[in-house]
Amino acid sequence: MLASRLHMFGGNLFLLIGTLILSVVAIFLLLAVWTAIKMWIWKRGQKRAQEQYENNRCAEDGTQLPATSRGICTDCGRVQEKVFHLPDGKRLCPTHYREQRANQQTC
Ligand SMILES: [Zn+2]
Repeated sequence: MLASRLHMFGGNLFLLIGTLILSVVAIFLLLAVWTAIKMWIWKRGQKRAQEQYENNRCAEDGTQLPATSRGICTDCGRVQEKVFHLPDGKRLCPTHYREQRANQQTC
């Protein structure tokens, strides 16, 4: 009677310890996953901020570049990832924008 009770207690103790260890491991796993998710969100935000900064940054000669977006270039008529919105309403891809600027500087 006593021996079987002790045996049951021992079994329960191992079960308890096992549960405790498992929950500690689970907590650490959750913390690791949470940290990874937060890092991913942070890196994504950093990437977006970097893209925004590069869109707004100045040209090589120090002048501010016009606003950009995805669109169709007026000169080549192709869809581009990045077109510059010129003040006169034209939209130029980086290649044609650079060509136009080069022409303006030689005139
Ligand atoms: Zn173009």
